[in-house]
Amino acid sequence: MFKLRFDNAFVRDLPGDPERGARLRQVEGALYSRVDPAPVAAPRLLAHSAEMAARLGLGADDLASPAFAEVFGGNRLLDGMQPWAANYGGHQFGHWAGQLGDGRAISLGEAIDAQGGRWELQLKGAGPTPYSRGADGRAVLRSSIREFLCSEAMHHLGVPTTRALSLVGTGDTVVRDMFYDGHPQDEPGAIVCRAAPSFIRFGNFELPFSRNDVPLLRQLADFTIRRDFPELGGSGEARYAEWFGQVCERTARTVAHWMRVGFVHGVMNTDNMSILGLTLDYGPYGWIDDFDPDWTPNTTDALRRRYRFGQQPNVAWWNLGRLAGALVPLFGDTGALQAGLDRYAAAYAEADRATTAAKLGLAECRDDDTALMESLHAAMRDGTMDMTLTFRALSDAEAGTLSPDLFGEAFYDEERRNAVEPALRDWLQRYATRLADDPLAPAQRRAKMRAANPRYVLRNYLAQEAIDRAAQGDAGGISELLDVMRRPYDDQPGREQYARRRPDWAREKPGCSMLSCSS
Ligand code: AMP
Ligand code: MG
Repeated sequence: MFKLRFDNAFVRDLPGDPERGARLRQVEGALYSRVDPAPVAAPRLLAHSAEMAARLGLGADDLASPAFAEVFGGNRLLDGMQPWAANYGGHQFGHWAGQLGDGRAISLGEAIDAQGGRWELQLKGAGPTPYSRGADGRAVLRSSIREFLCSEAMHHLGVPTTRALSLVGTGDTVVRDMFYDGHPQDEPGAIVCRAAPSFIRFGNFELPFSRNDVPLLRQLADFTIRRDFPELGGSGEARYAEWFGQVCERTARTVAHWMRVGFVHGVMNTDNMSILGLTLDYGPYGWIDDFDPDWTPNTTDALRRRYRFGQQPNVAWWNLGRLAGALVPLFGDTGALQAGLDRYAAAYAEADRATTAAKLGLAECRDDDTALMESLHAAMRDGTMDMTLTFRALSDAEAGTLSPDLFGEAFYDEERRNAVEPALRDWLQRYATRLADDPLAPAQRRAKMRAANPRYVLRNYLAQEAIDRAAQGDAGGISELLDVMRRPYDDQPGREQYARRRPDWAREKPGCSMLSCSS
């Protein structure tokens, strides 16, 4: 039997619910409830992250042992595990939603790796908790594959994110009405083991604030700073202020990464916002194919498009405003909170300029370059150009020979391609002039661009193909896709098919361009 070393600070140092078990309830005065995973019929390991396993000191033998699937399917606990579900609230789609909590996520413990790193291991889909609010506490295979793959793909892209250790099929079925249209179906169930130094969300702070429980709020803030921001100095209000400022900056940098790689989170509710600035909760997320700032993958949000691609930097700022509001009782002078929000704006602007310089291959982003990027975005939108293919083509182009032909296969619509050609030609002219005035040598420029413009991203239809195969009983597509996503910036000869633009069949297919929250 394999072993892990645990240091369960969250349940050791913070007040918990005196009642154990999954009875539905409002939980006041406590930050979590102790509850065990509910057993599943036939746990089977479908995929794992080799990097995450190695980090935890788990070898091939451990992964292959039946005990591994039993532990990460929720049927067995390791020594030192103390399962719990966290209690939090949140603003959903702009409205305060009250107590939410981990309705189907159960944390097993905080594992300490050989380098002293802390990894809270959390099963998503492990059964009911006090926070399940009438739902079943389970997760279906399709959404679990998506969360497993995207967690690791984002990590390899260099985007701050929670990780995924394993994907276990449960052998049970779960009933879901995928499009909320009165057609519930049996679907295979699965459990992802997620890993992160902390799963604390903005909503963990909002809930005690909403109940006017300032001592509990303060306890959680002190704990978070001590455990998750140990480098912070100072004391009292100054320390809180510096902490909030850092949360703002981390959030800004993460969202700037999303905009760089074309990721749309899809449900940026405050209960899905990580206090560490990690990308958290992969639900109806999606990747931009044809460049469209108004696109959202989330059918639940299709009407108002609150969480559309181009809106993400503003939504993050709004969410930080909700966090700031919840932290007000910790401050005599709330000017520090406003200063933190200003740090968000400054950090985002700086990260956005760095992105522009990197994606266009410039030594630095000058004031005019922002407008240069905006014109390219406009041409990409008008010409239905694939975001990933466009920037990668630009990265590989020779500065002396810039013509619209270099974008080759990037267009989704021929008519719009023809219409945008003059604008593109004009833009390339401006770009060539700008490059002539830039100090980077061609090889340096190319290296900089190729490190910022991935060749492979987890396009929605690629994940869907792996899902369709897995539904037929062949989980091999999951690991194959993960292997491609391990080196997203490298050309991988023989794997060109993973870099192609979205095929026409995938345009309106569920899972490829439209996703609901049903998972
Ligand atoms: P999400 O939209 O996935 O971030 O979930 C929002 C809230 O609903 C969280 O409190 C989840 O724990 C809860 N939730 C979502 N799906 C389920 C489920 N199948 N069973 C219990 N709770 C769920
Ligand atoms: Mg969530």
